[in-house]
Amino acid sequence: MCGIVGYVGSREATPVLMNGLKRLEYRGYDSAGIAILHEGKIKMVKTKGRLAALEGKLNSVDLKGHMGIGHTRWATHGEPSDANSHPHVSSGGKIAVVHNGILENYIKLKDFLISRGYNFQSETDTEVVANLIDYNYRDDLVKAVIETLNEMEGAYALGVICTDCPDEFVAARKDSPLIVGLGKDENYIASDIPAILEYTKNVIILEDREVVRISAGRAEIFNLLGERVYREVFHVDWDVASAEKGGYEHFMMKEICEEPAVVKAAISPRIRDGQILFENFSLTDEMVRSCEKINIVACGTAYHAGVVGKYAIERLVRISVEADLASEFRYRDPMVDKKQITIIISQSGETLDTLMALREARKKGSHVVSIVNVVGSSIARESDDVLYTFAGPEIAVASTKAYNAQLTVLYLLALKFGQIRGTVNDEDIRYYLDQLMGLPGNMEHSCKENK
Ligand code: GLU
Repeated sequence: MCGIVGYVGSREATPVLMNGLKRLEYRGYDSAGIAILHEGKIKMVKTKGRLAALEGKLNSVDLKGHMGIGHTRWATHGEPSDANSHPHVSSGGKIAVVHNGILENYIKLKDFLISRGYNFQSETDTEVVANLIDYNYRDDLVKAVIETLNEMEGAYALGVICTDCPDEFVAARKDSPLIVGLGKDENYIASDIPAILEYTKNVIILEDREVVRISAGRAEIFNLLGERVYREVFHVDWDVASAEKGGYEHFMMKEICEEPAVVKAAISPRIRDGQILFENFSLTDEMVRSCEKINIVACGTAYHAGVVGKYAIERLVRISVEADLASEFRYRDPMVDKKQITIIISQSGETLDTLMALREARKKGSHVVSIVNVVGSSIARESDDVLYTFAGPEIAVASTKAYNAQLTVLYLLALKFGQIRGTVNDEDIRYYLDQLMGLPGNMEHSCKENK
């Protein structure tokens, strides 16, 4: 969800990648890394934290070479840590990958790869992509990437390098942005135009399910059948500041237009064959059935999402719900016990009043389910169960996409509880799930109409 940069040409790749990543910093991130292919070997430096920390590490490593990929990560699977930072390298060291997005079927694919002898160093979904490309690779990287993408469910922007391909790398996208920058005898990829604007103003905006093979002299695009596709070159005449906003006048407008993708990311990994599935959930059906009251506790915008959630849950689950400001809840010695479920909502997962309210609820025996955007945050770590919103960073102060992602998760939770307690029948569940799944398309339509 954050930043990707790739380069091949006659310049030293590391400074080009670092400059590009700096231009993407405004998107927010929790870790960063780069990998360079040089003399048949992949060399990699990555770290939790800011780009300044990466620069510090780079000072003591010789990362020379003319082709590489770089990444800023916004964690979705596995906390921000050095090991979970990108790039990720396949078990034998042949393939390195940077990825923005979420691989929905990564557990199934990971189990398969483990059974084939692959081992994993991180908790990310992305490492599965590196190993799966390696597994599918014979002698053609584009082919191996296409095979892999055909097995992947979810969203991705990818940059892939392979030790057998010293002069070219491969990139691809679906539901995560990626552009190709065309220079003179050098080419680039980036998740957003500002990253490469200092080097070229000629770009191709890749479409979903397209793969591109990039060398210094060419950029060849393919569809997932392996057929060549031709895309127009777009000449960018924006300056960096307007390019950061993707051509929109304000970040808020840009983020509103990202809502369809965000709502889709919140829904689609959680609906399988008409059932709502929450991964690694410890809350049992019995606990939901015997629950006597639900507390929703949050601050600011998240509190407003909580108030809508109260309406949805009371209507669908027929259980009493109290939506409370965390700053009130934490100080007023609330009447909470183990027969109650507490839903905590926080974008950052670090809101202090909300964290204190969580501790208060748990101290009194309530099971806490949190709805959080930032993986590995304090609220995520201290909750009994976490439902991530996968909304990515939000720059505008007035929250729009994080709010809608919170609402989407609350609706799913309401439906799940209603199904467990038998207050929503199968036909209604199907109806509501259809409505939810149609939501991203409807939002997209409305964004286009208002552009
Ligand atoms: N899902 C990947 C991870 O958690 C990619 C996150 C991103 O888009 O930055 O590492």
